[in-house]
Amino acid sequence: MKKNYRGFGFYVLLILIVVFVWYLLDGNHLSNSTYNYTQFTEEIDQGEIAFVEIHPNREVPTGSLEITRTDNTDETLYVSNVQEVRQMMQDADFTAYVEYDVPAENWLISLLPLLLVFGAMFILFVIMNNQAANGGGNSKMMNFGKSRAKMTTDENKQVTFDKVAGLREEKEELQEIVDFLKDPRKYTKLGARIPKGVLLVGPPGTGKTLLAKAVAGEAAVPFFSISGSDFVEMFVGVGASRVRDLFEDAKKNAPCIVFIDEIDAVARRRGTGMGGGHDEREQTLNQLLVEMDGFGVNEGIIVMAATNRVDILDPAIMRPGRFDRKVHVGRPDVAGREEILNVHAQNKPLAEDVDLQQIARTTAGFTGADLENLLNEAAIYAAKDNREYIKHDDIKRAFVKVGIGAEKKSRVISDKEKRITAFHEAGHAILFHLLPDVGPVYSVSIIPTGAGAAGYTMPLPEKDEMFRTKGQMLQEITVDLGGRVAEELIFDDITTGASQDIKQATELAKAMVTKYGMSENVGLINYNNDDDEVFIGRDLAHTRGYGENVATRIDQEVKRIIDECYGKAKTMITEHDDVLHRCAELLLEKEKISREEFEALFS
Ligand code: ADP
Ligand code: MG
Ligand code: ZN
Repeated sequence: MKKNYRGFGFYVLLILIVVFVWYLLDGNHLSNSTYNYTQFTEEIDQGEIAFVEIHPNREVPTGSLEITRTDNTDETLYVSNVQEVRQMMQDADFTAYVEYDVPAENWLISLLPLLLVFGAMFILFVIMNNQAANGGGNSKMMNFGKSRAKMTTDENKQVTFDKVAGLREEKEELQEIVDFLKDPRKYTKLGARIPKGVLLVGPPGTGKTLLAKAVAGEAAVPFFSISGSDFVEMFVGVGASRVRDLFEDAKKNAPCIVFIDEIDAVARRRGTGMGGGHDEREQTLNQLLVEMDGFGVNEGIIVMAATNRVDILDPAIMRPGRFDRKVHVGRPDVAGREEILNVHAQNKPLAEDVDLQQIARTTAGFTGADLENLLNEAAIYAAKDNREYIKHDDIKRAFVKVGIGAEKKSRVISDKEKRITAFHEAGHAILFHLLPDVGPVYSVSIIPTGAGAAGYTMPLPEKDEMFRTKGQMLQEITVDLGGRVAEELIFDDITTGASQDIKQATELAKAMVTKYGMSENVGLINYNNDDDEVFIGRDLAHTRGYGENVATRIDQEVKRIIDECYGKAKTMITEHDDVLHRCAELLLEKEKISREEFEALFS
């Protein structure tokens, strides 16, 4: 911005100079203000004038007079009417004058101002063009439609997989892409189809951008990176033309990687935008899809994209032949965090008392970026104290600073909280495993999620079923209550951590009674009027479609279902008390356990 201003001032100066030169050349303006025509006539009358030269201008009747007085002084006088001057002098019988011819037009001189102006404009244009060519970001004016992708090929700057700590599974999944880029022929010979697009999904700061760069680095291919928001401009059509341009560049450099960071900015579900803005985005998205469909399967271009909002992406982007590979990049577990700390501690001298493993243990929920930030802040504290080494104290201080900053995203949690969470999740997991119609458990984790949950137990992605049975719903409620039951059995006290579970269980039980007719006491009547609740105020005004009696019965039935499920959960978890403890201990140690590790606990 500053640079632009300076440039602007320069142009203003240039224009001023041009105008000034013009002014100089056009002598008419240099009139002598003190000497005027009236004085001149008086002096003629009084015989003070010796001689007058009349220089008419081309633009008759104006001209100038070179006047010489009898006392040898001179005057120059510009007059508006040469004719009148001549008449006046003749009237006064003054004859000592000579009248020059109208000067021949010197075309070069008269063209000079014009030439100067054009010259200045030309110089200006050249300068601006130069700036556009050099200035990268400043070049908006000249190349709107050009893709703003940055290409990295410099081998020294390239990131490789060993710079990406943790993320073992993710790296394994991407290894195949690296292999393909290294030697596409190996795959094409066998007729193998390599994914065109890979979508990296995960919370901010978990290393998605880093991972994409590392894939390019490992394969030693060019890496074109652009951010989704670069496509979205004020002007319609610019985004689409940038996409076209980007892929043209990529084709010239294949095999290569095109990386679109924050793709949600362009690939938002179509038809949901407001106003004119979304037309532009749709065009851009369409162009992106066209380009992805346009190049052959094995042309050697792999499009990678990153987002932390898969939920808002347009489903079209995930169709086969587009981003058909999804890689989840999660928050690191203890081991991952230790690896990340090791990577970032490499160029930071640490004092003896720093124990990275211990730091890894106390930073549950931190992302790679948070950890990097933590060590960086610690280094700054050490530098401020003029120390050569980073001490444990520096890290502790940095922890407070980063921890508070990151509080929303990744709360620093105490050991006690962690223990409670471990038992809570173990409770859910055991029931998922034991009950026949729910589960199996895919993974259990006590890594805090950004959304505020202290942990989660994830069943295998559910099968597409048209109906849910009553038995299945009861089991779901039982699983929901398992967390609270485990807390109760192990600790004297219970926590607020189960509120979401309780809400979910209650809603399901209520739906069973009022919507699905699954309670004999209430019968096959729909008392559920949530669906047509258009105005928020209605619920507050207590409009119910049924009377006090029915309401009481519904409440009783909901309570009965919950109580029964709760009893069942308690019995089952108590029976598997040993598994509960082993599961919780394993979770405390590893923070995240897989299906195999979990199921091994039962044998
Ligand atoms: P994202 O794109 O997922 O938001 P980035 O890849 O931009 O995250 O990560 C930001 C920074 O955090 C990286 O530059 C790196 O310093 C650090 N970082 C994140 N994850 C890791 C990791 N797994 N290993 C090493 N450093 C990491
Ligand atoms: Mg990123
Ligand atoms: Zn729970």
